Amino acid sequence: MNKQSSKESSQITKLEQQIDSLQERLRISETNFGFLYEDNPVMHATINPLTGYIVNCNSMLVSNLGYKNKKAVLGTHISEIVTKKSSIKILALLEASLSQGPIASEEITLKTKKGKSIQAILNSRAIYNKAGIVVKSIFTLVDISEIKKAQRKAKNKKEDLERVNKDLEQFVSICSHDLQEPLATIRFSSDFLMQKFTDQLSEKGKEYIGYIHEASGRMAQQIKGLLEHSRIGRDLKITKVDVQEQLEVAKYDLKKRIQETSATIICGKLPKIKGYKVELRLLFQNLLSNALKYAKKDVAPIINITAKEEEEFWIFSVADNGIGIKEQDIEDLFTIFSRVPTQQKQEGSGVGLAHAEKIVKLHEGDIWVESQFGVGSTFYFKIKK
Ligand code: ADP
Repeated sequence: MNKQSSKESSQITKLEQQIDSLQERLRISETNFGFLYEDNPVMHATINPLTGYIVNCNSMLVSNLGYKNKKAVLGTHISEIVTKKSSIKILALLEASLSQGPIASEEITLKTKKGKSIQAILNSRAIYNKAGIVVKSIFTLVDISEIKKAQRKAKNKKEDLERVNKDLEQFVSICSHDLQEPLATIRFSSDFLMQKFTDQLSEKGKEYIGYIHEASGRMAQQIKGLLEHSRIGRDLKITKVDVQEQLEVAKYDLKKRIQETSATIICGKLPKIKGYKVELRLLFQNLLSNALKYAKKDVAPIINITAKEEEEFWIFSVADNGIGIKEQDIEDLFTIFSRVPTQQKQEGSGVGLAHAEKIVKLHEGDIWVESQFGVGSTFYFKIKK
């Protein structure tokens, strides 16, 4: 062997080794792909993009569509395994994909052998030959029937809830209006009796008329509160709210009470947040007004307001040095008309905290209280960013 031919022979061996290595890589890749194609927990079908006939599929597709074996599916047209509407859609997508590339996340409806529908997401990738011509399209189909069912259920539930809420609000509103009228008559009549017939009434009679007057006054307050409660959340507009500014307005509205009680209000830096302006002001007003109202006798209220930023929420706190709340009274505190029995001497109708809770919920948040009886209370609320 001369020098030249020995060089050529070594080059051939090198090339043969390269071919071997490439073939090995191809074999591994085919095995991997075949494994993925066959054992993926999703359905696969290989389609001739020009005719729409199925040339291959995996067992997931066979079993999901209720066929006996692969043979029963291979060679059939795509229109056999999808609904008529989806068939038209897929053939159009296939045609478009020849020039526009892969099909991505298209919703289609598969048809089982027994005619049952399965909603699925279709993705498709084209395989080209050496000449750059598409020879097959590999479909990946993910069953989304359960997701769709859950989505429909959630949508129905949401609609039901919205309807019930609307009905309830209407009911509360109508009831409250209608109740106001007979209540006004009761108040007017009891006042009239008290004024015009006071000398004809016994002490007991006067006492009972006093009860009627007081109870109807309380009821009027409750009806007003109920109406206000049902109105919170109507016509909402989300804006950027300067919480500091809203707190100042709330303080201004409570100016008289703050002066009378010689209260000190300490406030850290408050942020600007996305929220409902009027409602947020009402929320601070209710918490501040309670902190002033439930102060210890002869102790000037000291109210501390803070804001802390977390990843998803802003957490605000309103702390006071007031009378505090016993642990057993905390549970129902935010329920409408709920009042702590021993604190009934303070004026109120038990709607302030229910309003506060509704406002916080509108901001996808939460409200809670930590309190020590005789020491003070801290109301916390968090607002979604
Ligand atoms: P109202 O003040 O009209 O009774 P709220 O709904 O605002 O209604 O409050 C419900 C109850 O919670 C009050 O009756 C009171 O017993 C208790 N409460 C609220 N805020 C405080 C507070 N800062 N300190 C102590 N008790 C409070």
